[in-house]
Amino acid sequence: MSSYDKHYYDGAWQASSGTETVAVISSSTEAEVARVPRGTAADVDKAVKAARCGFETWRRLSVEDRAQWLEKLAAAMKTRVPQLAEAISHEVGTALAYATKVQVEFPIMMIGMNAKFIREAKLEEELGNSLVIKEPIGVVGCITPWNYPLHQIVCKIAPALAAGCTIVLKPAEMAPVSAFMLAEAAHEIGLPAGVLNIVSGSGRVVGEAIVAHPDVDMVSFTGSLQAGRRIASVAGDGIKKVCLELGGKSAFVVLDDAPFDKAIAAGVNNCMQNSGQTCSAWTRMLVPRSRHDEAVELAKAQLAKLTLGDPFDQNTRLGPLASAGQRDSVLEFIEQGKKEGATLVAGGGRPAEPAKGFYVEPTIFANVDNKMGIAQEEIFGPVLVIIPYDTEADAVAIANDSPYGLAGGVWAGTPERALAVAKQLRTGQVDINGGRFNVLAPFGGYKKSGIGREIGPLALEEFFQLKSIQR
Ligand code: NAD
Repeated sequence: MSSYDKHYYDGAWQASSGTETVAVISSSTEAEVARVPRGTAADVDKAVKAARCGFETWRRLSVEDRAQWLEKLAAAMKTRVPQLAEAISHEVGTALAYATKVQVEFPIMMIGMNAKFIREAKLEEELGNSLVIKEPIGVVGCITPWNYPLHQIVCKIAPALAAGCTIVLKPAEMAPVSAFMLAEAAHEIGLPAGVLNIVSGSGRVVGEAIVAHPDVDMVSFTGSLQAGRRIASVAGDGIKKVCLELGGKSAFVVLDDAPFDKAIAAGVNNCMQNSGQTCSAWTRMLVPRSRHDEAVELAKAQLAKLTLGDPFDQNTRLGPLASAGQRDSVLEFIEQGKKEGATLVAGGGRPAEPAKGFYVEPTIFANVDNKMGIAQEEIFGPVLVIIPYDTEADAVAIANDSPYGLAGGVWAGTPERALAVAKQLRTGQVDINGGRFNVLAPFGGYKKSGIGREIGPLALEEFFQLKSIQR
């Protein structure tokens, strides 16, 4: 895996004004696999200047020109799929096959799809005697997390670039390599200077400098609630638009007439994807009290099918967690669950094998009360809690009794019943009876899961402002 000793802005690789670097650690071998610069506020200032300059030309390009640049960028990224997947498997611990498909090929496809979305977007509308025009908001600061590093970047930069905005991106410290590969691809195709600018480093220094910079018009952030709060308050000071994609504690409601074998297996798989390091994971499984024990047995049987191991082994479904810190935090939550009186029915600690790597056993707690900490807090690891409920109304109340509202699922005997329950959930996404992920559907949270939407044609709207011209 390559290391990078420069940031990328103004169409060129640029030395950092700082001297420090950040080590990228493999989650499976615990060895250092790359290094990137630890940027400074001075680096951010130069990158923002480049983005401001770039905006003046980029926003004036025709929609067709911008769409073609996105298609060229997607094509250049496609030539890097194995290297991207390998880097992300090391950084995050995602099993290589899943990383290739979900962490790499899917976001690359989204880059290309945004070309289509902007070509089809309606950018002008007559309203009475007004012409209402959608204009790009300007320079967008993008700050991203480590769990789906390329996906989170693309969710922001692809619609923002399509809309005519320019970017200053700070990738996650723990998983920055795909951002640098994106810069390489942008450089290779000759993307105009100042359009895509990348500065790596810490949230406190580089991230805050981006958010506070007077020439940044909008901040698009994905990450924790805690950092989101801080970013919203700093951006609020500058009266900047923010788009926040924060955490989740999503509920999967299994109704009494659902086909339990199918539904429980789907629920377990959803919770455990990317070893539970997924913001939208269904980490709370709500089952009828009368069928609780049956659900637990089915969940255990499904969990046993998800092989834990080296992410580079093709039989592996669940790799390690991304870092030692993430592993320790998840293990603390597991201890908390034991103390809170939940019944541990699978997993519950570190596996004996593999000896190296930040592994945690996939874990299930049963008989969980929704008031327990393990049912309220985002654990961000392979931990499923099974919560019994008495009536359908009770299930809806429990599902909604969460500070978060990002995603969820419902499985019922009929699509009508599932839909009726889905409509009562206060959450941005609900999959009913095994409904598949849809790349056209907007994704984002209610409540403390965030503000704004990403993915699909509606994501473009976040990066526009409206101008009304009366005549
Ligand atoms: P994090 O909040 O620690 O960091 C996210 C990014 O923000 C990093 O790049 C970090 O350096 C930066 N940052 C941290 N503090 C900052 C500050 N004060 N100012 C500016 N930037 C700052 O989150 P993480 O641990 O990388 O990611 C895990 C979190 O992300 C989980 O809570 C997860 O649910 C959430 N997430 C949400 C979505 C979604 O779409 N809603 C998707 C993926 C992850």
